[in-house]
Amino acid sequence: MRWFAVDKRRLPWRTEPPAAPDPYRVWLSEIMLQQTTVPHARPYFEAFARRWPTVEALAAAPEEEVMAAWAGLGYYARARNLVGCARKVAREHGGRFPDTEEALRKLPGIGRYTAAAIAAIAFGRRAVVVDSNVERVVSRLFAMETPLPASRDEIYRLADRLTPAHGAGDFAQAMMDLGSAICTPRSPDCPRCPLRAHCLAFATGAPETYPRKTAKKARPRREGTAYWLEHDGHVLLVRRPEKGLLGGMLALPEAAPAEADWAEAGAVDHVFTHFALTMRLLCADAPTRDEGIWWPVERIEEAGLPTLFAKLARRGRERRSGLALPVRENA
Ligand code: SF4
Repeated sequence: MRWFAVDKRRLPWRTEPPAAPDPYRVWLSEIMLQQTTVPHARPYFEAFARRWPTVEALAAAPEEEVMAAWAGLGYYARARNLVGCARKVAREHGGRFPDTEEALRKLPGIGRYTAAAIAAIAFGRRAVVVDSNVERVVSRLFAMETPLPASRDEIYRLADRLTPAHGAGDFAQAMMDLGSAICTPRSPDCPRCPLRAHCLAFATGAPETYPRKTAKKARPRREGTAYWLEHDGHVLLVRRPEKGLLGGMLALPEAAPAEADWAEAGAVDHVFTHFALTMRLLCADAPTRDEGIWWPVERIEEAGLPTLFAKLARRGRERRSGLALPVRENA
């Protein structure tokens, strides 16, 4: 805690005493940081907090605008839950987040970790907050031989033992900052670590070998095709079904939207959590603009396409302007 008081990260969702934390900003940051790094989430947080400074403002925003502003952060179910949660807080809780883990967990998109983080950081409750940074620090402190994920319950129990009765929010953030700045996955900087004297992994001489892990299964690889159909400076987009991968987002069609003379325009590789995807792009010009969402090609960046489709769109647009692109690229 002394180390944290001096060396903590200055982050836009954190406040310095005597200012009280804003539960809305704490919640927004925690949702964005699920599966996303701090440097990547930070500009999104700043843009959201500027555009929708309160939970009521976010609750009143059209879902499509929020989804478009979220584009590039990935895991789009989070954006839908974000809107759902803001609306529930505005409607059922008078615009104030509930202050217990139990009540927080009843809100969309808030699981065990996020409820504990908000209760501790925003409301000063004693809650046990375990993210992947905390998992690593605890595994090393106790030199746990059981590999992840089997060791999770034990890590939680040990983190519970360490968590103080007062200042659980600062304690949680201190552990996260330590894991992020010093006790890093590959090369922990033990000489600078305030926990060195107590750390059993340090004592083994090979702290970076913790946490132990079970061998990962290789990700399956899938293949797909996307279609770039253009007419008079506009490209055809589709809105994906609400349920499923990238649900509710605008995207390029994945089935041929018309009979046409389709030309190959290369492929893009993209890695999702459970599989890797190679998506090839076929391009054609349409004689007319029929029904559907026709988006101006020059303003395609404003469509809020998820990363995979944004890369494909760049390819489609640059093929049109005659720029040579490599046949394949990584998304
Ligand atoms: S001493 Fe090293 S391994 Fe142990 S907690 Fe500190 S940085 Fe991590």
